[in-house]
Amino acid sequence: MKRHALTAAVLSTALMGAVSVSTPAMAQDQQYITIGTGGQTGVYYVVGQSVCRMVNRSAEESGIRCNAPSTGGSVANINGIKSGELNMGVAQSDVQFNAYNGKAQFDQPMENLRSVFSLHGEPLTILARKDANIDSIQDLKGKRVNIGNPGSGQRATMEVLMDAEGWDTSVFSLSSELGAAEMASALADNNIDAMAYVVGHPNGAIQEATTTVASNLVPLNDDVVKGLVDEFPYYSMSTIPGGMYEGNPDDVETFGVRATFVTSADVDDEVVYQTVKAVFDNFDRFKRLHPAFANLTPQDMISQGLSAPLHEGAKRYYKEQGWL
Ligand code: GLU
Repeated sequence: MKRHALTAAVLSTALMGAVSVSTPAMAQDQQYITIGTGGQTGVYYVVGQSVCRMVNRSAEESGIRCNAPSTGGSVANINGIKSGELNMGVAQSDVQFNAYNGKAQFDQPMENLRSVFSLHGEPLTILARKDANIDSIQDLKGKRVNIGNPGSGQRATMEVLMDAEGWDTSVFSLSSELGAAEMASALADNNIDAMAYVVGHPNGAIQEATTTVASNLVPLNDDVVKGLVDEFPYYSMSTIPGGMYEGNPDDVETFGVRATFVTSADVDDEVVYQTVKAVFDNFDRFKRLHPAFANLTPQDMISQGLSAPLHEGAKRYYKEQGWL
């Protein structure tokens, strides 16, 4: 009897061990994370899809499954994280700063906002129809300009620029609020003269517009812009390289931000740790998923453009790597 009992105990322990090794992520342990992105013709959408691709590769071991739907952009993503509808999201560095400090679109400081890492640079990109003759910021006056959907980062940054110029939307003959995915066709159909997009390059929306209608990138480098860059640490001058888009052979100087990946302190440390690990353990593969990621380095990604504190789960991975 005694021997039998022992055998049964040993057997059941061995079985439990086997079960926990082969299927560590039981159905009840599965966690689903949702990452907020942007319009499908932008780069945020690719960021979300790429992070999820890395996370889902190790879903068997980590028990974490990821999806990244299209959203209205930076402000919508942070609001989604605040409400718990999203677990993580992509947001411009200026929007991250304003959310954490309770400025601009955010009435209250979002104290539990956390940085995870930053990504590519995003110049404020104004693309105008050639026949609208827009070659400078001042030429936008009296024109039909898409200032972006509420919830988008371009709308937030356009409001900063308009404010600094002493403008409101009445300086335009029309100010439209089309979402990122609708702007290029509106430009081509002559429903607007110019579109504003804070976005990494190259991207699908500017490619689509420049190949369907004669259009030019507008330099944004007057004294007002330089004043913004001097005043705010998250703005810097930036250049859209010549030759990237049809009909735009010359470099164009503008200003911009960085895309950042954010979450909430309420999101489990292990979930953020596993997400960060999935990206950086497969970093070369990740970087190949979009040309805007080509020059990313871990050192820049954990230090630049981040105003909210790093999430504890992210810190744990960066410390393990000796990066912090
Ligand atoms: N910067 C834009 C925003 O915050 C999105 C750009 C993109 O989708 O790549 O809404």
